[in-house]
Amino acid sequence: MRRAFISPTKYVQGENELLNLGFYIKTFGDSALVIGNPDDIKRVQDKLDETAERFGVTLHLADFGGEATRNEVERLKKLAKEKGTDTIVGLGGGKAIDTSKTVANGHHLIVCPTIAATDAPTSHSAVLYTEDHQFDDYAYFIQNPSVVLMDTTVIAQAPSRFLVAGMGDALATYYEARATRRSNSNVNAGLPNGFHTGETAPAKGSIAAITLAKACYDTVMESGYSAKLACDNNVVSPALEDIVEANTLLSGLGFESGGLAASHAIYNGLTVLDGPHNYYHGEQVAFTTFVQLVLENAPMDEIEALLDFSLSVGLPVSLEDLDVKEVKYEDILKVATKACIPEESIHAMPFEVTPDSVAQAIIAADAFGRDYRKRKSMK
Ligand SMILES: [Zn+2]
Repeated sequence: MRRAFISPTKYVQGENELLNLGFYIKTFGDSALVIGNPDDIKRVQDKLDETAERFGVTLHLADFGGEATRNEVERLKKLAKEKGTDTIVGLGGGKAIDTSKTVANGHHLIVCPTIAATDAPTSHSAVLYTEDHQFDDYAYFIQNPSVVLMDTTVIAQAPSRFLVAGMGDALATYYEARATRRSNSNVNAGLPNGFHTGETAPAKGSIAAITLAKACYDTVMESGYSAKLACDNNVVSPALEDIVEANTLLSGLGFESGGLAASHAIYNGLTVLDGPHNYYHGEQVAFTTFVQLVLENAPMDEIEALLDFSLSVGLPVSLEDLDVKEVKYEDILKVATKACIPEESIHAMPFEVTPDSVAQAIIAADAFGRDYRKRKSMK
């Protein structure tokens, strides 16, 4: 049986770590194209100036247009060529990073997230959108980023809602990797067959990935609440450092080589509803992970531990929490139908799923979550 494990070449996090960006650029050359939203670049401009001077590198700042489109990728590729650099720095949140991955196309890429809201930074894939913000395609690259650099000072200064959303995304990782392992399904870590094909050669998960996924879960449950309080006060504490690692490194390696299952497929299904659009990826995933546990009839102590944690940090436990005002079976069935299309990761669950069984699990979880919140608030 073939198994695979992939990861960035280097992951480094620390207070004011951006001051060392120049050092990593220097390992590839004397300059880099920095792709980031103007606001994000402004937030860290002083550090960029300082590291460029300290390490003698030139940073070509490329204002990112805001959407990860094929046109934007082409524009930035051209700009890198004009500037004579093949080192790409992706700075900011998800879309700027996905764009930088696509511009770099698997080579000389340094990713510098300014928030820890998802587990995407370490991965070898990106999501592209059309000009009118609709899903376009998944892109897979020959390699993961060369360096993932997390400046915990910058992350602690961002709103804590981002960090909490990242915890929601991170909590899914273990449960999805566990389901994938139980069903012996393939993971995303297979070698890419080509660019923009979305196809990977089949490979199963590894002990390494499931172990990291479990460490991710344990770390979030242990340190998540304390990290949120630190972030609320814009300080870097050991708990916050643990959560930055869990949200980014542990969850990133855990999902890519451990596999996705029902939670992320149901998240994709939620896009047919209006309400959830106002919530971050990880916030929605916190709820869909709860749905997965209901779908697989997980032990009640596991379900309650997840709900207790979600309530403590303010993650959604019901559809109401995602601004779905009225829960109608026809609407929920649309969500479930989209979650169950043949190419979705939901088929990595270790039993057969149908749109009907998924719709019923969503409704059951929603009712349980609303009731649980009420019971907890009465105590
Ligand atoms: Zn995710």
